[in-house]
Amino acid sequence: MGATFLFSCSNQSGEKKEAAADSTAIVNGPDTFNYATDKFADIRVLRYQIPGFEELTSKQKELLYYLYEAALCGRDIYWDQNYKYNLTVRKTIETIVSSYKGDKSTDDWNKFMVYAKRVWFSSGIHHHYSSDKIFPDCSKEYFTELIKNSNISALPINQGENTDAFIQRITPIIFDKTVAPKKVSLDSKHDLLQASANNFYEGVSEKEASAFYKAMETPGNNTPVMYGLNSKLIKENGKLVEKVWKVGGMYSSAIEKIVYWLEKASTVAENDNQKKALDLLIEYFKTGDLKKFDEYCIAWVADTASVVDVVNGYIEVYGDPLGKKGNYESVVSIKDFEASKRIAAIGAQAQWFEDNSPLMPEHKKKNVKGISAKVITVVQESGDAAPSTPIGINLPNSNWIRQQHGSKSVNLGNIVYAYEKAKSASLIDEFYINPDMNKRVKEFGAIAGALHTDMHEVIGHASGQINEGVGNPSETLKNYANALEEARADLVALFYVTNQKLVDIGVMPSVDCGKAEYDGYITNGLMIQLARLKLGDNLEEAHMRNRQLVAKWCYEKGKKDNVIEMKKSPEGKTYVMINDYEKLHTLFGELLREIQRIKSEGDYNAGKSLIETYGVKVDHELHKEVLERYSKLDVAPYQGFIQPKLVSIMEGGKITDVKVQYPYDFVQQMLEYGKNYGFLPTIN
Ligand SMILES: [Zn+2]
Repeated sequence: MGATFLFSCSNQSGEKKEAAADSTAIVNGPDTFNYATDKFADIRVLRYQIPGFEELTSKQKELLYYLYEAALCGRDIYWDQNYKYNLTVRKTIETIVSSYKGDKSTDDWNKFMVYAKRVWFSSGIHHHYSSDKIFPDCSKEYFTELIKNSNISALPINQGENTDAFIQRITPIIFDKTVAPKKVSLDSKHDLLQASANNFYEGVSEKEASAFYKAMETPGNNTPVMYGLNSKLIKENGKLVEKVWKVGGMYSSAIEKIVYWLEKASTVAENDNQKKALDLLIEYFKTGDLKKFDEYCIAWVADTASVVDVVNGYIEVYGDPLGKKGNYESVVSIKDFEASKRIAAIGAQAQWFEDNSPLMPEHKKKNVKGISAKVITVVQESGDAAPSTPIGINLPNSNWIRQQHGSKSVNLGNIVYAYEKAKSASLIDEFYINPDMNKRVKEFGAIAGALHTDMHEVIGHASGQINEGVGNPSETLKNYANALEEARADLVALFYVTNQKLVDIGVMPSVDCGKAEYDGYITNGLMIQLARLKLGDNLEEAHMRNRQLVAKWCYEKGKKDNVIEMKKSPEGKTYVMINDYEKLHTLFGELLREIQRIKSEGDYNAGKSLIETYGVKVDHELHKEVLERYSKLDVAPYQGFIQPKLVSIMEGGKITDVKVQYPYDFVQQMLEYGKNYGFLPTIN
């Protein structure tokens, strides 16, 4: 499961889809579970449940328990990958929050706690989405006082360092605007590696790193490993060296724990296929051999029968401006059989969708292969997948494995459900001012969104093929590859979402439902998603670029026919009006064909021009208006989750049962994780 920016088929990347800023959801029912808990800064913290857990066999529960432990054991890795001093900051925060002896009712303390929660939520000092550095609203002096009045012996102080020296060391890491300002920089005006604070490269320039990995490629090798996926690249004595993340290598103390639990999991695997996959994964963690990882991926794709499934490893590459290094993540899940019927119905028609698409004939796949789609119920997420989570995943990310062996595409059903339950209608009323659109979005927004996600994952990324001799998009389209790939997958979904075929195969109630997706997509892409962006900033994140590219391109191209209009309400509120759904559908098809051509031919200049013209710049006045209107609503632009807790019941040294608890306190969970799963040294 990649996350919504992932890629698929001819692209190389998993896919990760996340809820848009406008994800609408209206779900009814006598569900009294409390879905929303904490709210701070631009974040709302939610909870989710694990329906179906009680019906599992005790062996399946035991398997889930081991995979749950393995997931949490890798948490530190993700923190450290995000920035070299993240674990130093986190341990300092943990120490202060659990041992500060002063007054915890002051304004300053509250400001500090907001900072602490933001850092926990983002798994580091950079915003999880914008990747900008987060700053506390309290002063340096207050921060110094907090440290001095906390348990000094628990602070991550270096050997030979005293408290004052420690304070001097950590203060700029937290407060200085010039220190590590950005986690991932995609601004091609500067060296991308030097400008990025993440911990994937050290003392290495973009040019050096690119040349280093280019040299690993063998011409004519159709089954390359994902070079660089599981290592940090550093310069030692003038030479480039990879520090591999494996047992005995970098991050060993955490990886040993992951292996320990995976080995237990292997003993209670549901079947031989699953056991084979788990054993290969263990071998990969032990050796760091990327060929083993490929073997594991192939075995994992082949295991479609198991109820329990897991992703555990270095998966998505969005955190690396060069798209090589995988961030640690784990998603532990069980299959939702009922909900999987919808997604399977779409997957079964993959060839029909490909044949009827607007792509140029030479870019169509003759055999759309191995799309295995399902809805899963998440049991646990960690690393890159938590607290902020994808809602859809498509893995593996290796192109040739996807082509030859297929991929697994999943929707995170219980996560989507929780989003919907926590949603408010006020957002729809604020931004959908035209009564028809408002009504349609309220009635169909949730199901239309789910359908879009299904199609984006199952037939979107899987569609199309690259011309003979043209390289992978990460090489040909470089820093524009992610956004273009997301646009391509979205456009496949948009092109078909108003098609009668979906009604005929029983996955959509009416064509009107598809129109609700047009309403939502265009309104979000032109306006609502700007709520996530700081005033004055340009769009950088791949999905946001993609959504604006699609919406704005259609707006501009359709202008002469008045396809999409930006109107003003009597109160002066700007809103989107779609006048011609048929023409909009045609425009989606045209843009899809062009983006597929860009990918198939590796046309960097055309891709760059599309993104830079439509997907980067923001209308300042409109942005200001959106922020003002959004701030008055009871919503937050970003949401994430407190994870359920699995507790094993032991008898005579064996697990006899596993119970699920649903913690309520975000801070408590973060402290608990830090205490129980903090396996890495503060600096790695
Ligand atoms: Zn995607």
